[in-house]
Amino acid sequence: MGRLFIEFVDEDVGAKYICRCGCDIASERCLLWEGYMGSATPAFLFRTAVNLEPSGPKRQEVLSTGRYTLSDVRCRTCCTKLGWKYLAAESAAEKYKENAVLLQQGALQRINNLAVRPVASRPGAAPHAGAAPQLST
Ligand SMILES: [Zn+2]
Repeated sequence: MGRLFIEFVDEDVGAKYICRCGCDIASERCLLWEGYMGSATPAFLFRTAVNLEPSGPKRQEVLSTGRYTLSDVRCRTCCTKLGWKYLAAESAAEKYKENAVLLQQGALQRINNLAVRPVASRPGAAPHAGAAPQLST
């Protein structure tokens, strides 16, 4: 179908996630939550991601947190199914998930070499407080 338009994750970040084919998918800054997809597949919830395309028709599904309208998504480059996008959430408490994508951890690779300093691993820590990053090389 025409040319492939590939987007790149902003490099001004500590880490990013890429597809197994090497295509950029999401920045760590967009990671909202880490948990499970269904009951068994470890997954990441990203506020935004790039290089994803809808795969198949949208569908209604009842998950443990309520009813959603979902659309499966796949990598634009290699067509691997990576997870789904939340198109709509019925529950007001889950509205923050709308337009976010839930992707299988096993389908992604984390790339750390963009880090300008160690990323705070404590949840809830404010990583942007303090002085400018010090490059050690
Ligand atoms: Zn891919």
